[in-house]
Parts: sequence; C-alpha cells; structure tokens
Amino acid sequence: MSDCLFCRIVAGEVPATVVRESETMLAFRDITPKAPIHVLVIPKAHHENIAALAAADPVLAAHLITEAAEVARAEGIGDGWRLVANNGAPVGQTVFHAHLHVLGGGRIEGL
Ligand code: 5GP
Ligand code: ZN
Repeated sequence: MSDCLFCRIVAGEVPATVVRESETMLAFRDITPKAPIHVLVIPKAHHENIAALAAADPVLAAHLITEAAEVARAEGIGDGWRLVANNGAPVGQTVFHAHLHVLGGGRIEGL
C-alpha cells in the first residue's frame, strides 16, 4: 500500500525514530506526542485498524500487545502505562494502518 503513511515508514521511505522492531512489528515515536512517552506499535503488514488485524491475524495482534509492554518497560514506564487504539474516524483515527499508542510518563493529552 504505497499511499499508506505507516506502510511507507515500514518500507523506510518515510523516516521515523524506531525504538523496537521484530520480524512482524515496528515501534516508533509519535511525531506529535500526547504524553512524555508516546510510542506507536504497528504490524508491518497492512490492516486498516486493530479490530481488522485481530480478526485476520489474532496471533500478530497479541504479539503487538506483548511488544507494547516491552516498549513500556524499556521506556521506563513499566509500572504504569496506557494502551490506546482508535478504530474508525468517528473516534479520531487518522492513519488507517493498525497501531497501538503506548502512553505514559506524565500527563496524557486528548486521547
Ligand atoms: P490515530 O489518530 O490514527 O490513532 O493516530 C495516528 C498517530 O500518528 C497520531 O498520534 C499522529 O501524531 C501520528 N503520526 C502522524 N503522522 C506521523 C508521521 O509521519 N510520523 C510519526 N512518527 N507519527 C505520525
Ligand atoms: Zn499500511
């Protein structure tokens, strides 16, 4: 999906600050952080949102959650962090490639 921003980040065509990677997922810092720590955890494969991913590949969906926990631990917020996934434009999804927001380290704005 060459018109998908997060597919382009996976392909290395758009730069991102990557903090963790596996064969099937990538984690990078949100460009407009809503909290002191704000990392996005995405599957490398394109799925429109987390619900679509969970339906198509539940093992990969679970992998993203365990990797999100590893990101939180590595970022020093393992004792308390928030996981957010917007499913659909009505609640504010703006990038239609599945992603988990890992948030913490202080005040969380507007998610
Ligand atoms: P959504 O609103 O779809 O749940 O979240 C999309 C997130 O992607 C937003 O928090 C936004 O700041 C982030 N974002 C949008 N464009 C870019 C980009 O080019 N690079 C990075 N690292 N994050 C982005
Ligand atoms: Zn995509």
